[in-house]
Amino acid sequence: MDRDGLDPEDWEAFRAEAHGLLDLCIDRLRDARDYPWQLMSREAIPHLALSGEGHGEIAASRRIAREILPYHTGNTHPRFWGWVHGTGLAQGLLSEIVATTMNSNAGGRDHAATYVERAVIDWARRVIGFPDTASGVLVTGTSQATVVALMSARTRALGASSRAEGVQGAPLVAYAGAGVHSSSAKAMELLGLGSRALRRIPESDTGMDMNVLRAAIARDKAESLRPFAVIGTAGSVDMGRFDDLETLAQIAQAEGLWFHVDGAFGAWTRLADAPWRHLSDGIERADSLACDFHKWLSVPYDCGLALIREEVDQRAAFAARPAYLEGQSAGLAGAEPWFCDYGVDLSRGNRALKVWMAVESLGEVRLGAAITMNCRQAARMGALIEDTPGLCLMAAVVSNICVFTAAESLSPEEQSALNTRISHELQLSGKAVFSTTKVKGITCLRAAFVNHRTRDHDLTEALKAVVEARDALKLSGVL
Ligand SMILES: *Cc1c(COP(=O)(O)O)cnc(C)c1O
Repeated sequence: MDRDGLDPEDWEAFRAEAHGLLDLCIDRLRDARDYPWQLMSREAIPHLALSGEGHGEIAASRRIAREILPYHTGNTHPRFWGWVHGTGLAQGLLSEIVATTMNSNAGGRDHAATYVERAVIDWARRVIGFPDTASGVLVTGTSQATVVALMSARTRALGASSRAEGVQGAPLVAYAGAGVHSSSAKAMELLGLGSRALRRIPESDTGMDMNVLRAAIARDKAESLRPFAVIGTAGSVDMGRFDDLETLAQIAQAEGLWFHVDGAFGAWTRLADAPWRHLSDGIERADSLACDFHKWLSVPYDCGLALIREEVDQRAAFAARPAYLEGQSAGLAGAEPWFCDYGVDLSRGNRALKVWMAVESLGEVRLGAAITMNCRQAARMGALIEDTPGLCLMAAVVSNICVFTAAESLSPEEQSALNTRISHELQLSGKAVFSTTKVKGITCLRAAFVNHRTRDHDLTEALKAVVEARDALKLSGVL
């Protein structure tokens, strides 16, 4: 028996364990409806502490199956609608096994992971409608993609020398709707521009107010500030709102601004049926797009995409290769361009394979149908809420998100307390996962549909559970 190196001591025992674990995982996904989120027992948590002693892969695998696997986020369950969490794909099991087996470093070089990632980016480019001058890179998610995109914008605005010189107090300002995701503010902070330089433009159900935007740009220019970017949102995280991207593209062009779109989940309405497809019209005119594969395309976590309209802008912002990373005309170090020149990371996993698997196995039509189904479900839940005494929609259902209160007759404070309690009760009982958000000072229940396992009966049953929890809480006098 070879005890040097780190491979399993007994490959046949390892094989048997792996097959058993795979069967268990397939059962969990096939029977996902039987496995809602459950609270991990407080006593079990300290058991995860690592003593540092090795107990062998068979023992470790058994512990994973018993002590870790049951305590998932719950987003694989059909009645999970909290935040915006993708459901995942059973098909991802296959690509993840192969990705681990290959253990590719996709920072660059000449091997399949590089070509798979190019194929995935090219597919996304075509769906979004970017020209073939576009480039991109797969990253952890939209948060990091936003940094990549806005760094490209910053470098275009200040010139390549700003990479060495820093921003030197350049008064760059950017604009976004009031409902813009916090990741855009964080990106502004990371880029040394500060989140205060991100102007929040008031918005309605149809996105940001374009007159206020124009006035804000004019005011900043008059004050000798340098407007450099406008961020359109395709699917706001709270409400599922879409900015009018066509108009934003026109304004950006007229004002000389970089037009970035946060399309974390909403970009994929490009694959949906009308009318939802048209929500993202104009996205093809953006200079950059940040979006996720792990939300509405259901690709297993984590996986996002930064897509930049002009490759030169992305390269100008990120390319940097010391001598030990020089490309070669032959051998493994070929296959320019390398992805390390398009983003922050040098060593990178093979994220692209699970996207390739999703698109190659399911195709655009089925992926798009799941998105259309979710938009219909949100509309249907909205209608059910309107028809249920005491429940009240707190915002128009624009795409896939429903925000409502469970007791409209109570005071704002009582509603907030009640809605919060209902969300806890339903989560803890495994009946459904709603998250919460605030509208006009009231903490509301919120359902975001990016779940390909949800069926219509889940909507009625979940709302019934909301009403029951509300009535029980009222009766028990907690309010
Ligand atoms: C989720 C989300 C983000 C952040 O994306 P991550 O993948 O979580 O980093 C940004 N914007 C919107 C609209 C989102 O829904």
